[in-house]
Amino acid sequence: MKIPVYFSSAYSVDGGFDTVGKSAVVAHSLSDDSIDGVELLEPRPVHIELLERVHDPDYVQQVLAGRRGQFTEHGTDFVASILASTGGVVAAVESALAHGGFAGSLSSGLHHARYDHDSGYCTFNGLVVGAVRALDVGARRVLIIDFDAHCGGGTASLIERLNDSGVGGIEQVDVSVSSFDNYPSRPGVTCRVVGGGDYLSAIVEALDSVIDPESIDLVIYNAGMDAHENAGGAMGVNTDVIRERESRVFEWAARHDCPVAWVLAGGYSSARFTVNDVARLHRITVEEAARVASTQPKSMITPASATD
Ligand SMILES: [Zn+2]
Repeated sequence: MKIPVYFSSAYSVDGGFDTVGKSAVVAHSLSDDSIDGVELLEPRPVHIELLERVHDPDYVQQVLAGRRGQFTEHGTDFVASILASTGGVVAAVESALAHGGFAGSLSSGLHHARYDHDSGYCTFNGLVVGAVRALDVGARRVLIIDFDAHCGGGTASLIERLNDSGVGGIEQVDVSVSSFDNYPSRPGVTCRVVGGGDYLSAIVEALDSVIDPESIDLVIYNAGMDAHENAGGAMGVNTDVIRERESRVFEWAARHDCPVAWVLAGGYSSARFTVNDVARLHRITVEEAARVASTQPKSMITPASATD
């Protein structure tokens, strides 16, 4: 089976900031110069009811009415973008759980979004929406791996909120090069901020620190590129380091038989680093997922339901 990578032209808002603009550039790259074993698929928009189980229903309705959220200046295009792109995360989650192996969406994880407000370019937290959907369809243990340059404090707060309301089973491991949106580690939810020189060893330690990875039903990977030294990150995190990071993540997942749904995250263009340069970095995630998948025997990564 090919690795499904979800994308809809509705994800991308013309003239939008990188968070809502770059997905089309990555998609064009994947259609113009395709990667063996990867296919682009169109997702359905997310169900509003699912959003309202993660976020405050009043906040959800205000975003849908165009009154709240990041990028409201783009009006209905933005609302369509957020429904399509969150739907893409859900589609990747459903595919990885149903078929095993890897799946992705060219939309962003949006890990700063809180229960009832937007933050740091993030309106709805697709990572947690995806994790809750995974629990709905039978997963018991979902691990969010967040290697965006910034900490995923929004995700951590939503996991805590769900725990308080009796919904368990979502964990997070977070390695960042910026203390933005930092939060204290607690059992099952850990955050570490490191310098560029320590980045790769921290990634390896974070993966090694995961307890009993064989019992994880699904990994949701927030594959931010803003740790890269030219894309907003830390000196020493170059393209080779990023490729090694992606390779380690997918090899770790394959070794432990964990299906992975990955999404884009940060990665910002500038006068010296174009959106095409950013897209080339995001392409590395797809390339490494395809490379690792091609080295696995067909039955290596099994659907979660088969282990129930
Ligand atoms: Zn970031």
